[in-house]
Amino acid sequence: MTETLLTSARVGDRLVDLRVVDGVIRGIAASIAAPDAQVIDLDGRWVVPGLWDEHVHFGQWALYASRLDLSGATSAAGAAALVRARLARGDAPHPLVGVGFRDGLWADEPTRQLLDAVTGAHPVVLLSGDLHCVWLNSAALEMHGRGEHPTGLLREDDAFAIEQAVDALEPAELDRLVGDAARVAASRGVVGIVDLEMTWALDTWRRRVAAGFDALRVEFGVYRGNLDRAIELGLRTGEPLDALLTVGRFKILIDGSLNTRTAYCDDAFPGGGHGMLVVPPEELVPLLHQATDAGIEASVHAIGDHAVALALDAFAAVGTARAGLGGRIEHAQLVRTADLPRFAELGVAASVQPEHAMDDRDVADRYWAGRGSRVIPVRSLLDAGARVLFGSDAPVAPLDPWVTMAAAVTRARDGRAPWHPEQTVTPDEALAASARTSIAVGRPADLVAVDADPRDGSALRTMPVAATWLAGRPTFSAL
Ligand SMILES: [Zn+2]
Repeated sequence: MTETLLTSARVGDRLVDLRVVDGVIRGIAASIAAPDAQVIDLDGRWVVPGLWDEHVHFGQWALYASRLDLSGATSAAGAAALVRARLARGDAPHPLVGVGFRDGLWADEPTRQLLDAVTGAHPVVLLSGDLHCVWLNSAALEMHGRGEHPTGLLREDDAFAIEQAVDALEPAELDRLVGDAARVAASRGVVGIVDLEMTWALDTWRRRVAAGFDALRVEFGVYRGNLDRAIELGLRTGEPLDALLTVGRFKILIDGSLNTRTAYCDDAFPGGGHGMLVVPPEELVPLLHQATDAGIEASVHAIGDHAVALALDAFAAVGTARAGLGGRIEHAQLVRTADLPRFAELGVAASVQPEHAMDDRDVADRYWAGRGSRVIPVRSLLDAGARVLFGSDAPVAPLDPWVTMAAAVTRARDGRAPWHPEQTVTPDEALAASARTSIAVGRPADLVAVDADPRDGSALRTMPVAATWLAGRPTFSAL
């Protein structure tokens, strides 16, 4: 038996001691005597439940820091200049991979010719901030067998294929970076992630756990190409494979994204077109049936309002709720007002990324003009009774739940006025969307101690985290 006593913990308005036995909270009281316990004095710090990021691409997030950051580029020429400067240092990797460009508001076109002019024969692969688009120079296009491509700008499935190719490091090297990223996540109070990498994740995560990975709980997704394999193996959503690893959901993307202007929308984009519906209902419904019959819940990526409506229609047609598998819609970035109550009616959770509202506010004002109050409508979803889950979609936004919660609570960043503040939520609501447990006797001791008041919205974005426990085991401590 391992026993820990956390003393002087501020839980809500109470100052209490928390007794943790074998990873489970066994006592909460003003003063607990536990002579055999290891005592950790929290000195009045606030304690909240351990945090989850419900949507990440963890390998890509782990790689992100090692790549050229293009998030500051305000034009294609500006991005090319950053590439030129990086190559001029003489030690750029082959290929040079850049991340985070957002071309939605650029006045000039990203083209292979523009890159070629600064790169010569050095292969360069640039990934957009929303990951739905890649921009390659001629040398990189040749490497990936796309030498004939006219512009070098590839979208959706073509982009995902290239991303997977450049992310395919030696496993040992990737696992080392993943371990580092997991420790950084724990230092922000994270105890669990939903990993939605597109590759077959079961073996990858088993390998990592076998090698000692123990900083986070991990629930992994299964994509279409691996659905049959998952079913053959008898994997079922929620099934624990060991203490940390759990089977997640069948993830399927039915449309694109806002920045890439491939989100499938009711209204046309200003340049024309309603976006891309990459999986129509006649394909989606049988796939959801197949997954549901096997006990695998579905997570449907839908960003445009028409895509969200079609995803809800598919859940209704399959009757996932009757099967005890509600399902999720990932992103739900633009939602029809009439669809808001359907989330609760169908038992479908809205898995949203509030920080995207901060990243995308200008591009949304241009491409979804007049519809801003329906963009990441967390307030409206909660008011309509929906279950709302928060995530970052890292590397699209940082894997930091405090950043996510701050965006939801303030709808503001960078000193700018709040964007559609009618959609703000309270800090308690934000915390509930970021945690899977509560601080109560009998619950797992997934806990975070922080140095500022978590109910103060202005403190959230840079919240100082003092310690994190996963099932009573410290995964981070600055105490
Ligand atoms: Zn994602």
